[in-house]
Amino acid sequence: MIEINNVSKWYGPVQVLNDCSVSISKGDVVVVCGPSGSGKSTLIKTVNGLEPVQKGTITVDGVVVNDPQTNLPKLRSRVGMVFQHFELFPHLSVTENLTLAQVKVLGRSADEAKTRGLKMLDRVGLMAHKDKFPGQLSGGQQQRVAIARALSMDPVVMLFDEPTSALDPEMVGEVLDVMVGLAREGMTMMVVTHEMGFARKVANRVIFIDVGGRILEDCTKDEFFGNPEARQARTKDFLNKIL
Ligand code: ATP
Ligand code: MG
Repeated sequence: MIEINNVSKWYGPVQVLNDCSVSISKGDVVVVCGPSGSGKSTLIKTVNGLEPVQKGTITVDGVVVNDPQTNLPKLRSRVGMVFQHFELFPHLSVTENLTLAQVKVLGRSADEAKTRGLKMLDRVGLMAHKDKFPGQLSGGQQQRVAIARALSMDPVVMLFDEPTSALDPEMVGEVLDVMVGLAREGMTMMVVTHEMGFARKVANRVIFIDVGGRILEDCTKDEFFGNPEARQARTKDFLNKIL
């Protein structure tokens, strides 16, 4: 489903991804963790072509993302992405936020887009808020709308970059619950998060990336949490700090 092969990236002289390879199959839930500045956001953004790379290849569902011939808007319509800051359009209602890209990018009719969008809104438990504007919702609610918006596009994979880290603590759970539900329904997911509770519950793999953009661990959840002695020293340090 997703193949990241020997990807390296530099910002000027600074290397931020160092020969990264990750293979994600359909239905995998892969949690990516690592210290600040290690390249987690950069890595996840390479998957939908938001970050160009200088070396290696990235393939999503058979499409080579970093091939100049690739139609990136079309590819991105199939790769759902949810960021730390819920990037809803503030001047559009919730329903309009949910339908805009479906109409513009997928060419759906307004009716079809609305039906699909509201179905996803219902799924994240926010049907009652369909006519509100983002500014009238809590952070957790906005993030759930952002997830519903991404799901409305029928993505083959969902990418999450620290979707709960900008939220007040009492709102983290409602967003994680939606993500856990998605994972259990078989959605393919790549999730940058320090929420190790989420990782323990639904991840099937955990990747640890160290400063300099090198993947130090790529193992099953059980190996990652259950066999600390087998982990690299840097991973142990990191886990000791966040657990
Ligand atoms: P955090 O946990 O703080 O979100 P991260 O693991 O997501 O960190 P990235 O945002 O991927 O890290 O950044 C990786 C490295 O690339 C960092 O050293 C960062 O300073 C650098 N970097 C990111 N974006 C740029 C940019 N546009 N120009 C130059 N350097 C950048
Ligand atoms: Mg980041």
